[in-house]
Amino acid sequence: MYIKPKKSLGQNFLIDKNIQKKIICACNLFKEDIVLEIGAGKGDLTVLLAQSVKKVYALEIDPRLYPLLQQVADANENCQIIKSDILKFNLSKFILDNQIKQKIKVIGNIPYYISSPIIEQLIGYRKNISAAFITVQKEFGRRARAPAGSKEYGSFSCFLQYYCKCEILFEIKRNSFKPAPNVDSCFLSLEFRERPPVLVQDEGALFKLIRTAFNQRRKTLRNSLGGLVAQESLRNFLQSAGIDKNVRPEDLSLEQFASLSNSLGFCSDVGDRHACHLRKVK
Ligand code: SAH
Repeated sequence: MYIKPKKSLGQNFLIDKNIQKKIICACNLFKEDIVLEIGAGKGDLTVLLAQSVKKVYALEIDPRLYPLLQQVADANENCQIIKSDILKFNLSKFILDNQIKQKIKVIGNIPYYISSPIIEQLIGYRKNISAAFITVQKEFGRRARAPAGSKEYGSFSCFLQYYCKCEILFEIKRNSFKPAPNVDSCFLSLEFRERPPVLVQDEGALFKLIRTAFNQRRKTLRNSLGGLVAQESLRNFLQSAGIDKNVRPEDLSLEQFASLSNSLGFCSDVGDRHACHLRKVK
């Protein structure tokens, strides 16, 4: 059955069978795993997932694809379709309703224009998720896992790495998809941390500090934070931490941002919590 791909839904179906298998292998799946697949499409990955784990919930927004997914569900009794928009899906409620007692894995070849809101949403549900494996635009993946000092490092890297260990597992050429997107992709692994890698008194304050610092990343930290923190406090912090007074934001690690945030002791404003962080990232 021919289904005309909808650009508005980011429909770039993964047609390369080798990459499909590579994705399944890279997710390091166990027989007892429970997987939520986001954007199941025509069900190619769904079938492979169903053969590898205990249960697959295949979530898809486009009703034209439901008959194909139903065939997969009919042939694999451990597969169930969820007819929903991922951005409106209440995962905690779903987990309670289905009496799921373990952390799930999330896997998906998802539309790139909603990579950020999907990740943001998954972070919100991190207590229920052990890891997420998703295809993203190559540059997006590089920003996600960028270490301090690299040119891709920014507030998005800090935000994500606060919650997850991020790794690019491999790159995927555009002609592996049909229709081929006009960007290259990569397969990104996000392993959710049990606890953040740094201790902060106020997460909102940390993210506000980081965002402000990177708003003007070419400036020195002292200049970019000029409007937010007292120069003297910043000078004292840099001196006691043994950091060059002309340091640029991109050279400060997440740990150093956390110490700075703690040392300043300022509080986040209401409404500036991390939940709205990604939309503000440049
Ligand atoms: N996983 C399939 C399809 C990838 S294309 C494959 O690898 O071939 C991306 C899929 O995400 C499409 O099927 C599209 O309909 C679906 N999708 C787009 N927006 C969505 C949303 N908000 N919620 C759930 N699925 C969505």
